[in-house]
Amino acid sequence: MKCTVCGALMNAVNTDLPFKLSEDRIVILKQLPVLQCEACREYLIEDAVMARIDTLLARSDGGAELEVIRYAA
Ligand SMILES: [Zn+2]
Repeated sequence: MKCTVCGALMNAVNTDLPFKLSEDRIVILKQLPVLQCEACREYLIEDAVMARIDTLLARSDGGAELEVIRYAA
């Protein structure tokens, strides 16, 4: 897998990413498996992971301004 921005190699890593769902609501997903460029830090989320993210975000209760959810494969 090559980076779409700079063409360098992308590595599979686990990282924490914030998702802004609305003006006052942010969910942080912990230990998310993504592909990250070793040169420019651009990252890519695979379709299967993205589908699970959608499920996790839909399931979160929506009450808190900031919520942290652990992504588990
Ligand atoms: Zn890159």
